[in-house]
Amino acid sequence: MKAAIFNKNIELVNDYKKPEPKKGEALIKVLMAGICNTDIEILKGYMGFKGIAGHEFVGEVVEINDADQTLLNKRVVGDINAACYQCKDCMSGNFHHCPNRSVLGIFNRDGCFAQYLTLPIKNLLEVPDAVTDESAVLVEPLAAAFEILDQIHIKPTDRVAVLGDGKLGLLISLTLNLTQADILHIGKHSEKLKIVENEQISTLLLNDVQSEMNKSFDVVVEATGSVSGVGLAQNLVKPKGTIVLKSTLADNTKLNLASIVIDEIKIIGSRCGPFKPALKTLAENKINVKPFVSKVFGFDQIKEAFECSQRKNVLKVLIDFKEE
Ligand SMILES: [Zn+2]
Ligand SMILES: [Zn+2]
Repeated sequence: MKAAIFNKNIELVNDYKKPEPKKGEALIKVLMAGICNTDIEILKGYMGFKGIAGHEFVGEVVEINDADQTLLNKRVVGDINAACYQCKDCMSGNFHHCPNRSVLGIFNRDGCFAQYLTLPIKNLLEVPDAVTDESAVLVEPLAAAFEILDQIHIKPTDRVAVLGDGKLGLLISLTLNLTQADILHIGKHSEKLKIVENEQISTLLLNDVQSEMNKSFDVVVEATGSVSGVGLAQNLVKPKGTIVLKSTLADNTKLNLASIVIDEIKIIGSRCGPFKPALKTLAENKINVKPFVSKVFGFDQIKEAFECSQRKNVLKVLIDFKEE
C-alpha cells in the first residue's frame, strides 16, 4: 500500500506492507486524514516515533477479525488510544491511561497517513450520514475539547477565559460555549479569532489584556502551547478557580507556584477526550467545523500539505485519499 514514512523527513512509498488486523481489530481504508500540530512535532522528533504518523482520520471498515461484524463496510472514526482492555486501568474504565496502550500514529502503532490502518473495533464509532468526511476528521481534536466538560463542571454563570487561538483553542471555545458560560477568547491572530466571533463569543487580542482582568475568571483554559500562557492563566484565574492545561510543554518550565497555594487554585491536566459527544455535536450541527478546513491535498502531495499546514493563518489541512 501507499504510505508516508516519518523519520525526520517524510518519505512516500508504494510498497509498504498492508497491516493485518489482530483479534478484535478492524482493517480500515482511510478516506481522509487531518494534519495536527502533534504530527509536525513528530516530524521534529517528538516521542521518538518513526513510522507512519497521523491520528486524525475518517475511514471505511473493510475487514474485521472478530465474530462481531457490525461495523463492516461502515464509515467510522476511531479513538486513537488502543488499550489492552485487560489491565487494572482498563477494568476501571480508564482506557486512555492503559499502560499497555499503543497510540495511532504516535506510539507503537502505525497511523493514518497510509491507505490502510488497524484499530480495535471497540475504538470505532460509525459516522452518521449527516457528518461529511471533512467534518468527521475533526472529531478527534473536538473530542479533546469535550474532555474538559468530562473533567470539570462549567456553570452557565461562570466566566471562562480560553487562551490560544490554534485549532484546539478555538474548538475549546466553541465547545464550552454550549454551556452558555460567559467566554472570553484571548489570542494573537484576529483572523483566527473571527471563527469564534461568528458564534458570538467575545475575543481579545493578547496585547490588549489589562491588569484589571486579573483574578476575574472562574475557569481559565490554557491552550497556547507556550510557557507564557501558563503565567497568564495564573494571573487571570480567580481565587479558588480552576486552570485547565491543554498544552503539552516540552521544555522544563519554571513556574511560580506560590499563587496556586495562596489562592487555592485547582490545576487540571487534560488530554484526549470522548468521541461520542463530539460526533453527536457534529451530527446535530451544534458546532460548525467547516471554517477550520483551510486546504485539502491529495496523498501524493503530503509534503506540500505539511508545508502548508505550518503557514501563518492556516488552520486544518486535510489529505484526501479517495483518489487512491
Ligand atoms: Zn491531533
Ligand atoms: Zn489496559
